[in-house]
Amino acid sequence: MYSLNDSGTDPPAGRLREGGVPMTAESTPAGPTPDGSAGCVIEARDVVKSFGQTPALRGASVSVARGEILAVMGPSGSGKSTLLHCLAGILVPDSGQVSFAGRRIDSLRENERSALRRDRFGFVFQFGQLVPELTAEENVALPLLLAGARRTEALARAREWFGRLGLDGLETHRSGEMSGGQAQRVALARGLVASPEVLFADEPTGSLDSLAGEQVMSLLSAAARDQGTTVVVVTHEPRVAAYADRKVIVRDGTATSPAPAGAVS
Ligand code: ADP
Ligand code: MG
Repeated sequence: MYSLNDSGTDPPAGRLREGGVPMTAESTPAGPTPDGSAGCVIEARDVVKSFGQTPALRGASVSVARGEILAVMGPSGSGKSTLLHCLAGILVPDSGQVSFAGRRIDSLRENERSALRRDRFGFVFQFGQLVPELTAEENVALPLLLAGARRTEALARAREWFGRLGLDGLETHRSGEMSGGQAQRVALARGLVASPEVLFADEPTGSLDSLAGEQVMSLLSAAARDQGTTVVVVTHEPRVAAYADRKVIVRDGTATSPAPAGAVS
């Protein structure tokens, strides 16, 4: 599936962007909206999603401000991953709306959503899902290669992340030759390498011990703040959520914001 050859047959940078979604930050209608969601980069409104007879979301609404790190918390099976997948244009809701940069994405065609994910979003999952046949630096370079960058350029940009994430010397290792925490930091670099506008992370520390998990989350939040990347991170760990600017709780398929600490109920 992933062919990484050195033969000079790489497509010119940008070629794979043809047919991409013509949505740019410049064309985004900025300014306040009637519901006051100014500065909101991604939003779900009344999203309903079922898998067969199983309801996963029953009218979930959430909006994320540009540059914000939002933690999505809640018990197992409550609909967190489904909400993340709807926000990221992986799943299409049965009803309700999902908007990114002021435009509906739930009504886009599959190829348009796929281009949106490739060009504007980054992803990190619980089990990093590195391609085992590829080296760490090739794994990090993948999003750039898929977007049409030349191999040498993609690998050079990928390598810049190794020092930053404490991975020096692991560039040519394969996933079987790294610890879980190292592999997850490689997955984090892959999620961030193409400077996505939104990084979606689904339990990125869920398979790690607490020290490695803390390290991944601290690097993730520092890098995101550095690049101004908006982050939606699903977690059920309060220690992980502590890195976020704000939390929403998903319960039985709906999302609510917890009262601020110290609020009178
Ligand atoms: P969480 O991430 O909070 O653990 P999920 O969003 O994965 O919750 O799941 C919400 C509900 O939807 C659960 O009841 C789960 O079993 C169900 N579900 C999720 N994905 C699927 C799927 N692909 N097929 C069938 N049921 C699913
Ligand atoms: Mg989940």
